[in-house]
Amino acid sequence: MSALVLDGKSLAQKTEAELSQRVTVLKQANNGQAPILATILVGSDPASGTYVKMKQNACKRIGMESIAVELPEETTTEQLLEKISELNANPDCHGILLQHRVPSQIDERACFDAIAAEKDVDGVTCLGFGRMAMQEPAYGSATPQGIMRILEAYNIELSGKHAVVVGRSPILGKPMALMLLNANATVTICHSRTQDLPSLIKQADILVGAVGRPEFIKANWIKKGAVVVDAGYHPGGLGDIELEPIIESASAYTPVPGGVGPMTINTLILQCVMAAENNLG
Ligand code: NAP
Repeated sequence: MSALVLDGKSLAQKTEAELSQRVTVLKQANNGQAPILATILVGSDPASGTYVKMKQNACKRIGMESIAVELPEETTTEQLLEKISELNANPDCHGILLQHRVPSQIDERACFDAIAAEKDVDGVTCLGFGRMAMQEPAYGSATPQGIMRILEAYNIELSGKHAVVVGRSPILGKPMALMLLNANATVTICHSRTQDLPSLIKQADILVGAVGRPEFIKANWIKKGAVVVDAGYHPGGLGDIELEPIIESASAYTPVPGGVGPMTINTLILQCVMAAENNLG
């Protein structure tokens, strides 16, 4: 039997229809003022530019507005901090997205952490991470939160299951592991120093690939019946996991494209609408 397709694209579309209605209600209650997401793009990396455009387009589709901040490649940490501080103080801005990655001379962590908690709709601050980890209210990091939403939408059982997360980056692997732990999974986190990765992956009931290398995780490392989540996206439509051969043997999987990617953007705009609702009442 073929594995269940965890269709992030259609779930995102369905959620956008609901979000449009929430935005209409917000506008009616606030003299036509729509929620506003500020996007900050530093430098000229084409992929980052495309991601920011996709996020702005998603805002437009649900009737939200966006403020586009574009800064040159040579921007300093101080200049970026100043821009973030302006947006923090701007009452018309409800959420701030600082597109990862920024040029290497910038202290990205300091800039993420300068985002006000109530505007951290991409879930990138240490404060937000800590609160999420402690199961206090916080906006989750968009990609892992999007993954949790898709697993929930398809009623994937997590409690007591062995989840293996490959990758431990601050915006993906690490928060993913904590979210799965909070959902009562037993979690193993793997990274570049992990020994005998295939044997750990073989134990996974739930596998999340967040490595950043095309098809690095091989199909024959994955046990039959596993739920396979591929966060990767590379040119040619490849993910971080060799997906094609597991379509028959997994119990469920996220396709690439159309799985995790749309849910990341959708989670960002969902959390921006939530921030506006909290702010505008
Ligand atoms: P990253 O910051 O480069 O982190 C990669 C992680 O993989 C690191 O923790 C690294 O370990 C680990 N790793 C590297 N080589 C490994 C190996 N040989 N064995 C085991 N682990 C290894 O990447 P990221 O930002 O988390 O992104 C991961 C993937 O998700 C990428 O494919 C990216 O394109 C994708 N992504 C997708 C979305 C989306 O919206 N769909 C959003 C963000 C990212 P160390 O910590 O030891 O270096």
